[in-house]
Amino acid sequence: KLPKIAWIGLGIMGSPMAENLLKAGYQVTGFTLEKDKLDRLGRNGGTAASSIADAVREADVIITMVPASPQVEAVAYGPDGILENARSGALLIDMSSITPQTSVDLAKAAADKGVAVLDAPVSGGEAGAVEAVLSIMVGGEEADFERARPVLDTLGKTVVLCGPHGSGQTVKAANQLIVAVNIEACAEAVVFLEKSGVDLPAALDVLGGGLAGSTVLARKKDNFAHRDFTPGFRIDLHHKDMGIVSDAARNVGAALPVGAVVANLVGSLRAQGDGGLDHSALLRGVERLSGQ
Ligand code: NAD
Repeated sequence: KLPKIAWIGLGIMGSPMAENLLKAGYQVTGFTLEKDKLDRLGRNGGTAASSIADAVREADVIITMVPASPQVEAVAYGPDGILENARSGALLIDMSSITPQTSVDLAKAAADKGVAVLDAPVSGGEAGAVEAVLSIMVGGEEADFERARPVLDTLGKTVVLCGPHGSGQTVKAANQLIVAVNIEACAEAVVFLEKSGVDLPAALDVLGGGLAGSTVLARKKDNFAHRDFTPGFRIDLHHKDMGIVSDAARNVGAALPVGAVVANLVGSLRAQGDGGLDHSALLRGVERLSGQ
């Protein structure tokens, strides 16, 4: 018998992920702050709960997909939160991208209530969520990972246990470093190519076939070409993630000389009011610096 799922946080990522579980035959009861997104869950065969407590009470597996550490803490702790209301023996899988320390602390607090926890952040963007081909980087106990595996395999394609609690978040932080630096490199190349008068689609086509090719370039080249910065993945969230990787790297004494510059550029875009745009809007920053 399939485990009963509670899903907290039905945003850009959470909605299509929860729908993939519904398509696979799971019962999903959800809660999120926006009414239209709760209604969407109901239309797709899920059950809209009126509170977190209501959503998690009967669940075998509870999944959270909220913006950042403060929201994970808000949904986990407190009288209406997950830990007060989940049944003992439930498994909590937090798929949000948060600080590794928050995941470690959550696992400890939940263990006192008989609730097992995995950190399981994802990469692959909205398209990866819709198509169920996410990379899912997991931290926690092996036995809990095995228990979560069928659910995670329904949401993603590359599902890997990376180590103890917090490890999934550490790997996700590295992922966000690579993605941001890669977007910035592509954006700088785009401005350089256009200012040089080279045909951009032709250039990006041939670049994509060589060593400069990347998932970032393939996925974001239309955003660059059409200056379409509809999210996708918001600058605000990438700013949060650059903060996470900067702190985590400082804690272990790892230098991020280029990462620090790109973190600064992401922060600068946000300060200029572009926090709601897709992270491919790093192109805007390069254009401004280039007098465009
Ligand atoms: P989003 O803002 O679209 O969705 C977040 C959802 O969380 C919202 O629907 C909101 O209602 C819900 N929420 C917030 N606080 C809540 C609370 N107290 N109770 C109940 N629900 C609450 O964000 P998203 O783009 O779906 O991102 C979610 C997480 O996934 C973030 O940590 C992000 O960094 C990560 N992520 C996003 C992408 C992407 O491409 N968008 C890719 C990989 C990882």
